[in-house]
Amino acid sequence: MESHQDILKQAQEKVLAALSPAALKEIEREFLGKQGAVAGLLASIPSLPAVQRRDVGKNANLLKKAIQQALAERGEALAATSLSAERKGEGFDPSLPPASLMTGSLHPITQVTRELEDLFLSMGYSVIDGPEVELDWFNFEALNIGRDHPARDSQDTFYCDEAGKFSLRPHTSPVQVRAMEKLEPPFRVVAPGRCFRNESTDASHEHTFHQMEGLVVGKDISVGHLIGAMKTLLRGIFHRDVEVRLRPGHFPFVEPGFELDARCPFCNAGCSVCGRTTWIELLPCGLVHPKVLQMSGIDPEVWSGFAFGLGLSRLVMLRYGIDDIRHLLGGDLRFLEQF
Ligand SMILES: [Zn+2]
Repeated sequence: MESHQDILKQAQEKVLAALSPAALKEIEREFLGKQGAVAGLLASIPSLPAVQRRDVGKNANLLKKAIQQALAERGEALAATSLSAERKGEGFDPSLPPASLMTGSLHPITQVTRELEDLFLSMGYSVIDGPEVELDWFNFEALNIGRDHPARDSQDTFYCDEAGKFSLRPHTSPVQVRAMEKLEPPFRVVAPGRCFRNESTDASHEHTFHQMEGLVVGKDISVGHLIGAMKTLLRGIFHRDVEVRLRPGHFPFVEPGFELDARCPFCNAGCSVCGRTTWIELLPCGLVHPKVLQMSGIDPEVWSGFAFGLGLSRLVMLRYGIDDIRHLLGGDLRFLEQF
């Protein structure tokens, strides 16, 4: 069996040759670990003649301390060397190119939102914002959506409390109400933002999506104004004139209400985007219901207005040819890096 001096000498040589903290750790394990040389010495004690036991035990402890000390000193020396090398700039090559910087890009929804905001600002609109957790009054009541309306169904709306006083807004329309209560007519506003609906998701449905609500209140506002604004909007998005048509649609907060369809910008004779019809359902709109104006403190005898709810998510999909709405908020970099 090796004497404790032999072991110490071996350990010291290895310690001095070590060039990194990891190498020191390895040496520590080799000599002081559970299977190490010192443990071996201690384990041999019971089998020794009684007269030797005391000395061997004592020497083993001295050996352990000596190795620990050598490790600590070498550790300090290594740390000092690397610090001074760093200070002198050794190992630093200023001619090397920098580590590549990850640059992001704006989300396609943000890009289209900003473009539309600019467009509407140029048409004299203001861009406004509203809360995503909304009071029942703004979400439904003030929009003429009665207690028994299907949109009130808990299947569609994420309620935040037992009493149903708060919910995640299922559309951007509550911002209309907030605008009407706060602003003096005449005014024009658009309100882009996130909406939430409790529905099962598929390629065209997502629990979180984006809308842009528009509202114009003034004197003698007619359906003609509405169509004019929508055509300007579509020209801004698709960079050319797009034919539109109105179909009657029922929404509690407008009278008359319409579904506005745009001529499919991708085909002449029908394609998969327009379902072979050459028309794309784009947005619900209409003249603001007199009752809705009244509830927000605007005299419907004097003022009238139009409103529209543009599906921003849908528009982004049309613009970039995205076939599944779930890509938009899926957070997959392979998707996002394309924009
Ligand atoms: Zn088409």
